[in-house]
Amino acid sequence: MPLLSPTDMNNTAGKKQVKIIDRINRKSPFYSVEFFPPRDRENWPDFFKVVDSLSAINPLFASVTYGAGGGTRDNTLDITATLAEKGHIPMAHLTCVGATREYIREYLNCLAEKGVSNILALRGDPPAGQNIRWEDGEFVHASDLVEFVHREFPDFGIAVAAYPTPHPQSASFADDRRYTQKKLDAGADFAITQLFFDYREYFEFSAQLRAIGMTKPVIPGVLPILSLESIRRVLSLSGCNIPAKLYLSIEEANQKGGVEAVKEAGIAFAVDQIKKLLDNGAPGIHLYTLNKAETCLRIVEAVGRL
Ligand code: FAD
Repeated sequence: MPLLSPTDMNNTAGKKQVKIIDRINRKSPFYSVEFFPPRDRENWPDFFKVVDSLSAINPLFASVTYGAGGGTRDNTLDITATLAEKGHIPMAHLTCVGATREYIREYLNCLAEKGVSNILALRGDPPAGQNIRWEDGEFVHASDLVEFVHREFPDFGIAVAAYPTPHPQSASFADDRRYTQKKLDAGADFAITQLFFDYREYFEFSAQLRAIGMTKPVIPGVLPILSLESIRRVLSLSGCNIPAKLYLSIEEANQKGGVEAVKEAGIAFAVDQIKKLLDNGAPGIHLYTLNKAETCLRIVEAVGRL
């Protein structure tokens, strides 16, 4: 099934393709932002208002997630295309679990047609309820996707995911770091980390990668805590660690002042975390915006000039 009808394809051929890594090399430190595509298109006008508000922080690039197994691939395509039209540098997340080379080739051609030339190359997880065995697929690990894109689509910029708290399926810390490095060696330009809450985990992780040959930027991903429920959900999905002291303080804020108090505590924590990351040499900050402009704007304002 074609992703786009011919009439959908606005002629972006010949548009200048920008690799994000070239921007990172020119401008550091920086903010980048991550969005998820609202499922219902009737909510897109409000979503793009959030995007417009966040233009105030001058993000170096804007990434858009991809539904597990490609469930919302057209949304990712259309939103990244609109971001490109609005003058942002978009990065489309792309998972390869269960995908064929032909499917990936077609999707990348559609992205390129729409002026999107940067991807976050992911393995992904099989969608809930579908029993895909990724070991049997044409792509088994994210490194396979990186290799493929690097070889067949050399004009694309490629980022990969990295895990300061090791990926839940990694057999050991050492394996996790080795396979992260493998993705970078296969042709990725830089990595973006999974969320974490102890800034020292990021620096320890970077040092472990450098010790095995990593020379590329690793951008820390920062998620503001907005509510006790959301942080519980995020922790269970990501498998990352949270310092006990932080978790207890969030619980206490919730008991004393409810959602508003948790949000204030979450913003204060994110501001402190970002300052420590930047003060100690992180090249930039990738903000998991959760499609909320106000929180991110407050955080960036409180951090102050980069
Ligand atoms: P891989 O790099 O393939 O790693 C997966 C596991 O396999 C790891 O344990 C790794 O150590 C191991 N491994 C890797 N290579 C080998 C090898 N050669 N031999 C043996 N073991 C190996 N998911 C989505 O569905 N959509 C998104 O938009 C999305 N965006 C994300 C953005 C970021 C910044 C991050 C950090 C994650 C994102 N994810 C997203 C989640 C991601 O898809 C899952 O974490 C997934 O389980 C792993 O994907 P990966 O690309 O890291 O896989």
